[in-house]
Amino acid sequence: MRKTKKQMLNPMEIGFKSRIIAANTLQIEYPDKNEFKRKIKGFINLLDKMKTIPVPSGGDCWYCLMKDSKTGQTIGGNGHLIEHIKEGYLHGSLILNSLIEAGYNNPGLIVHMNLRDSIKRALRRYLNKRLLTEYDKIDWNIQD
Ligand SMILES: [Zn+2]
Repeated sequence: MRKTKKQMLNPMEIGFKSRIIAANTLQIEYPDKNEFKRKIKGFINLLDKMKTIPVPSGGDCWYCLMKDSKTGQTIGGNGHLIEHIKEGYLHGSLILNSLIEAGYNNPGLIVHMNLRDSIKRALRRYLNKRLLTEYDKIDWNIQD
């Protein structure tokens, strides 16, 4: 099942499966919460198929890589994480951020010891917190 919501059109921001339904209104399709929950699960399970666990690199998504020096929080909003899930883009910075948030003092060790279940648990918590707890507030109209 898909839900739609209407939003005023900003021509610069036509994104996630959106289409123009009136001169200045955009209809955005987005999955219902359970469907999206399954997508998150599938995304996290990509880790099982990876030969090695990705480590952070300067080529990672900048929204996930760059952090505010005062707060330590990533500079990007949460909405762009949807794109990572859609594209199956499971990268090192995202893994690192979720391990840090899960409270691991030495996240590199978790990766080095190949503790995939711990990483998957941390990722699930990280993504659920950002994308499922405030599901109705997600801005689905995202391009990058
Ligand atoms: Zn990102």
